[in-house]
Amino acid sequence: MTARIVVVGGGIAGLSAAFYARRRGFSVTVLEGSKRFGGKLLRAEVAGVSTDLGAEALLARRPEAVDLAREVGLGGELVPPATTQAAVYSRGRLRPLPAGHVMGVPRSLRSLAATGIVPPTAVLRAAADLLLPPTPVGDDVPVARGIGIRLGRGVVDRLVEPLLGGVYAGRADRLSLRATLPQLVDVLDRGSLLRGLRDLPPPGGADPVFAGIPGGVARLGEALVDVLRADGVELRTSAMVRVLRRTPTGWRCDVGPASAPEAVDADGVVVAVPAPAAARMLGPEAGGLAAELAGIEYASVAVVTLAFPADQVNLPAGSGFLVPAVERRLVKAATFSSVKWPWYAGSDVAVVRCSIGRFGDTADLQRDDAELVAGVLADLGAIVRLRAQPIDSIVTRWAGALPQYDVGHAARVARIRSAAARLPGFALCGAAYDGVGIPACIAGAQRAVASLTGPRSVSRTAG
Ligand SMILES: Cc1cc2nc3c(=O)[nH]c(=O)nc-3n(C[C@H](O)[C@H](O)[C@H](O)COP(=O)(O)OP(=O)(O)OC[C@H]3O[C@@H](n4cnc5c(N)ncnc54)[C@H](O)[C@@H]3O)c2cc1C
Repeated sequence: MTARIVVVGGGIAGLSAAFYARRRGFSVTVLEGSKRFGGKLLRAEVAGVSTDLGAEALLARRPEAVDLAREVGLGGELVPPATTQAAVYSRGRLRPLPAGHVMGVPRSLRSLAATGIVPPTAVLRAAADLLLPPTPVGDDVPVARGIGIRLGRGVVDRLVEPLLGGVYAGRADRLSLRATLPQLVDVLDRGSLLRGLRDLPPPGGADPVFAGIPGGVARLGEALVDVLRADGVELRTSAMVRVLRRTPTGWRCDVGPASAPEAVDADGVVVAVPAPAAARMLGPEAGGLAAELAGIEYASVAVVTLAFPADQVNLPAGSGFLVPAVERRLVKAATFSSVKWPWYAGSDVAVVRCSIGRFGDTADLQRDDAELVAGVLADLGAIVRLRAQPIDSIVTRWAGALPQYDVGHAARVARIRSAAARLPGFALCGAAYDGVGIPACIAGAQRAVASLTGPRSVSRTAG
């Protein structure tokens, strides 16, 4: 009899884990609590045009997402963005990011000054970086402290935080420097950030950094589901796992309501749900694992997707813009989807998507959909003089959207990994651990499945 792996959670991490487990010959079941697969990958038609409402780009510099797209038949469809030139709305207008910046950290005073994103006094303050003695990172520090001590708060607030906010919806005074900007740790340990970055190889190269899929990267999740179904994987939606417990031979999932639970048994389990959900399903027998998982906090965000008649919209060049929190706007970031992605070319619809919400700041998210659309339109009017009325709009609320890689995150994940490794036939993956991006989630799924097939783990044939 083939050993059975149950994957809990049908987002990109869980679907990928199912794919790699099936490929290794396991019998696989995916238990997804909601009514659909894909998690943060979701698309819908806005004014008749298929558009991503969650994740919208794949990092193509890493191999995992590109490789998986190829394996599920989408390799030929990957397309680089038409432009990745993003701007920052700062001090009254849109301004380009400093050339060659690393997550908003400039490579030179000249490139910083040229953008005008921070005032001249803040450029002068950043110059102190060249004179200060080394300020090593130690165990870990908040990004705001590690970068701010060298370049000043202005650079943190108007450059680094908006870029990190685009990835984590987090705050620079909480996010971990080690977990979110690991490439800067060595530089800071040595001394000047500006000198250290100047010596790092410039970003770029011939290959595009990002890729999209016509119609939306959500198609990656959909294609995975098709391949899994064709491969005989049991795919269940509306299958919320409430409790996960060990049995003499493996694991048991209690699925469904407490009043009428259904037991699903497995030889091994991959838990691919957000950390708070994983914490809730694990009991005290999982050692300190549940408490560590519960310690990872999440930011909630909303995405407002708007469609306009293309002939009434004249967007500035570039893929969109970021808005620092200190500007006190509703919109945190805007993507000009129909400019950024080439498959919109020729469409008579212009699509703009705006993100709202940062960690710890949920007041805006309490507003109803009409208020959010009106607020976004007011910001777009002020920032890019977009005055057209949308012909369609979708407000997507992502509660518990993005894990916060707060100070100490890397150490917490190491503790989680070692506690998980003590549980036979058990593995974790997903955005909470080693990166929130889609390729990182796929890499985590590969590692999770590999750990189940290692020594002392689930053997492929049981019984
Ligand atoms: C608005 C937004 C934009 C983003 N943009 C990008 C981008 O452009 N590029 C990029 O690379 N990344 C992006 N990300 C990040 C990326 O999309 C996510 O980090 C990633 O998709 C998370 O995948 P996951 O499988 O770990 O988790 P999820 O997608 O959250 O999937 C977890 C699944 O588990 C299910 N579940 C939860 N509890 C249970 C339970 N008890 N039992 C069974 N099932 C359960 C959930 O319903 C869900 O389907 C974005 C994220 C958001 C929110």
